[in-house]
Amino acid sequence: MKVIYTDVLIIGGGLAGLRVATGVKERGHDAVVLSLVPPKRSHSAAAQGGMQASLANSKMGEGDNEDVHFEDTIKGSDWGADQVVARMFTHCAPKAIRELAHWGVPWSRVKKGDRQSIINAQKVTITESEEAHGLITARDFGGTKKWRTCYTSDGTGHSMLFAMDNKAHQDKVEIHERLEAMALIHEDGRCYGAVARNLMNGELVAYVSKATTIATGGYGRIYSVSTNAIICQGTGQALALETGVATLGNMEAIQFHPTAIVPVGILTTEGCRGDGGLLLDKDGYRFMPDYEPEKKELASRDVVSRRMTEHMRKGKGVKSRYGDHLWLDITILGREHIEKNLREVKEICENFLGIDPAEEWIPVRPTQHYSMGGIRTKYTGESQTLKGLYSCGEAACWDMHGFNRLGGNSVSETVVSGMLVAEYISDYLDSDEANLSIHTKKVEEFVKNEQAKLDQLLENSGGEDAYDLRRSMENIMMEKVGIFRNGKDLKDAVDELEKLLIRSKNIDVFRSKSRAANPALVNAYRTQKMIKVALTVALGAYLREESRGAHSREDFPSRDDANWLKRTITSWPDPNQTLPSVSYEEIEIDEMELPPGFRGYGKDMTIHNVKTKDAQDRVDSIRQKLLDEGKDRFEI
Ligand SMILES: Cc1cc2nc3c(=O)[nH]c(=O)nc-3n(C[C@H](O)[C@H](O)[C@H](O)COP(=O)(O)OP(=O)(O)OC[C@H]3O[C@@H](n4cnc5c(N)ncnc54)[C@H](O)[C@@H]3O)c2cc1C
Repeated sequence: MKVIYTDVLIIGGGLAGLRVATGVKERGHDAVVLSLVPPKRSHSAAAQGGMQASLANSKMGEGDNEDVHFEDTIKGSDWGADQVVARMFTHCAPKAIRELAHWGVPWSRVKKGDRQSIINAQKVTITESEEAHGLITARDFGGTKKWRTCYTSDGTGHSMLFAMDNKAHQDKVEIHERLEAMALIHEDGRCYGAVARNLMNGELVAYVSKATTIATGGYGRIYSVSTNAIICQGTGQALALETGVATLGNMEAIQFHPTAIVPVGILTTEGCRGDGGLLLDKDGYRFMPDYEPEKKELASRDVVSRRMTEHMRKGKGVKSRYGDHLWLDITILGREHIEKNLREVKEICENFLGIDPAEEWIPVRPTQHYSMGGIRTKYTGESQTLKGLYSCGEAACWDMHGFNRLGGNSVSETVVSGMLVAEYISDYLDSDEANLSIHTKKVEEFVKNEQAKLDQLLENSGGEDAYDLRRSMENIMMEKVGIFRNGKDLKDAVDELEKLLIRSKNIDVFRSKSRAANPALVNAYRTQKMIKVALTVALGAYLREESRGAHSREDFPSRDDANWLKRTITSWPDPNQTLPSVSYEEIEIDEMELPPGFRGYGKDMTIHNVKTKDAQDRVDSIRQKLLDEGKDRFEI
């Protein structure tokens, strides 16, 4: 048995994982990063539009600060977020972005003087001040009061990830690529690392660590059409779930992005609309102002996705052989702007649609995009129930997005949570609690267990094809657990997924019996894990009888703070269960800095909680008292 010992095992080499690695290294601890692919090819590289940080450098960002960013984030989350976490995040984002600049990210900068911009379909001249010249600039994004999304053209994630990976190499972080974590090693409520499989030669390796971090990103690929990279399969969430001890939070909170291209689902960034692009229907009519007169195309993502779907249901979609779609018009921005600030979008349109977006409209439709749910953690990033297990980035639910994430808040979260969680892990490592106390025999048991599962898959003659099961799962999720949800479809989805899970025990790897590089074997075991993850999403959505953020129930259209101001917690305590166990965690209004209110979209249909008014009165009176005493916003 090959065993590798380290202080911190980090599963995932995207922005979040790499940021944790450099953080713990700086505190003097060893770190090994596992990744399915070379880290620079992690999904983070796909982020286009930008990173939110309230720098307030550019003219349109004037007046922005951490308080405004916090408010936008909480409203965006439809009051599902943990407000302590959101505070930590908005407070640290400006630091994280400057740190990245120092590590080499070439952020787009303010240029003094006049520049032309498109706002609400009108040409507007913006005059940038002399003093701001050369500072990091920002663009507009959905659901934000100020222009706060900092960017490097539309290749933001790419440049962040390259800088972060270079920094990790500079810090001599050990990176083991093409190594897939298969199971967490744990005993008596404590995590001790993971069993990983070498994807090239099939060898199983035990990584034994004092702390383990899951930073494996989202689980978008349980849907048939997603903007996510194909490796975003939720295996990290499954690793936690399969311990039977760690829990997942709000798995039903799935974001659909308004503008993925049809049919393939590749994203065109929100920056297109942030920079002035418009949504048009089959008649070339700009419909969003009719639905959302204030924010129009730049309402929160969940809102725009629903409005687009509603509009298509009214027969206003463009018919195509791939189903209805709408148009994204960025021709209005002009070729020069597109070639400078939206060049990835241009290339995507040229390569995957054969059109020039400076001349032609882009066919778009809302598509699965982001996982707000994930491994439930405390604000420190540590699992609430499995000691020594940490999680951050899109893999986690620590929980700053609640039921809807704002564009630009995710890459920002990866580096901020990575920075903070690294500190909490280091504190833990510096304590006596972190000493390793697991017997090698126990480690060996975990390795043997994984080997036995692989052997069984290879020996099975049950006749089930993993590719078929997976396709069925993806279609069920797309058709029945989508943008608009209802009890009947969700119940059907749960029942059908449960049947798929039972069938997945008989997956037969007919294509190749090789134990080494064998994509069919990989697909077989990942499919089993993905169906479990899909079940946590579908069951959570079925049981949540309200509409909050991206979770929209046609049979329960109100946000119900009286009964549902709580997080969904799922776990899988017995491996023989065919459905996850579900419980709930209250979100305490009394602890909120910003008590629940109206988000400002459509009609206010909130069912209020009796505690809300008292909480609001209390917050208002504290604020007023401090204002009367002449305190500034920091003290308040
Ligand atoms: C097309 C697109 C555009 C986006 N644009 C923006 C944007 O402009 N702004 C914004 O804020 N957000 C954006 N997002 C969201 C953002 O990119 C992601 O949420 C974020 O990058 C996730 O980073 P991460 O480090 O958590 O995970 P990832 O970057 O997904 O990294 C996951 C890592 O885990 C590894 N891994 C996975 N499973 C295993 C396993 N079992 N064993 C070992 N390793 C494993 C992978 O190899 C990878 O290294 C966008 C998302 C998409 C899909």
